[in-house]
Amino acid sequence: MTIVISDLRRDSVSGGIETSVAVKIDGAQRRLTVRHEGNHPDLGLGTPTYDPFLLFLLIPAMARNMPIVVEGDIEAMRLAAMRTGLQSLLQSASDEWQMVGISADARISQRLPDLSKGSALGMSCGIDSLFAFQDLNGPETAPHMRVKLLLHNDIGAHPDRQSFARHTAHIQRFADEMALPLVTISADVMSLYGNRFIHSHTIRNAAAAMTLEDLFCNFHYAKGDTGGLSAKLGRGSGIGPMDPVLLPLLNTSANSYMSHCLHLGRLQKTAAVMHSDLARRYLTVCTHGFSDGRDKMNCGRCYKCARALFYADTEGMLNDYSALFDIDAFKSERTHLLLRMLRGSIGDRRSREERDALAYLLAADYPLPVWLRLFRPFVGRTTMRPNIPRITAT
Ligand SMILES: [Zn+2]
Repeated sequence: MTIVISDLRRDSVSGGIETSVAVKIDGAQRRLTVRHEGNHPDLGLGTPTYDPFLLFLLIPAMARNMPIVVEGDIEAMRLAAMRTGLQSLLQSASDEWQMVGISADARISQRLPDLSKGSALGMSCGIDSLFAFQDLNGPETAPHMRVKLLLHNDIGAHPDRQSFARHTAHIQRFADEMALPLVTISADVMSLYGNRFIHSHTIRNAAAAMTLEDLFCNFHYAKGDTGGLSAKLGRGSGIGPMDPVLLPLLNTSANSYMSHCLHLGRLQKTAAVMHSDLARRYLTVCTHGFSDGRDKMNCGRCYKCARALFYADTEGMLNDYSALFDIDAFKSERTHLLLRMLRGSIGDRRSREERDALAYLLAADYPLPVWLRLFRPFVGRTTMRPNIPRITAT
């Protein structure tokens, strides 16, 4: 059995642009379509390539142990990396992913980097992307590294379309205030992948960005994990630790892909971001959808909301976030949220970020129940460093 990718097309459709290929997989033929909508003046002008579609299909092919045939060309450097190093890295993360052959013509690219296009950044208004945005627009950033395009992707991370639409409207307000174009990228890749977005998020997001690589020079990916470059997929662990080595394998002569901010973990970024005015007005971390009709962007009780609000409470700024978060839900469920955080910090469900967040609460002067303090030796030390630089400018 083989996966065959063919018939690359780009069409203007109502409200946007659609780029698609025919995919023959598991004996069935379907079209894989990527839809772009947004206010970038050059949207739709670039030349579509098979490259992002090959990347979208790489993990599904490895999971099925099926070689890929592309009836077209792939940029030569990238094709070589996808045949060897990229698959080798991915294979090390999961025993269920096998290296597969890729048949495609190599395209010798004549493109040179256009530094004036600057950087593209995926923007969710979460901790990672707000930190990356503010960092990349800081005084020490070279002009060609500055963010000039914001992306927001619907590729399997959102619980439903309504949630994605509301999230997009929120990010559009942010983009408008920053006077930057925002392009949304939607692709129905759920049937190709398993349920765990964390197991393939880097590849999916890079493939989405690659569909627009005529519009940027650099792509910065803000999700990342510190403390090692090898990954083993698990219940709460994904391919993130490999981002710094995995993303540059997608580089061409004209475009660079990179993991932003290798030296700070989530807790450090939280500390840097949550004191800023931008975070107070835009921070969106929630994993829950909007189908329950709630009016705030953040539910206040999911594990990501809890981590952010416990930090805010430690710093005495919980009420600063009352417009964006359901603070009442957080307050009324605080004990339950702490129990869940403890569950995520020790034992078989141990998560690096949950553990670090709880270790910080235990180290800080935060009022915790006595029973929780008994677990301190099992939770361990916080990675929070003193004097973490805080971003306070808007
Ligand atoms: Zn939430």
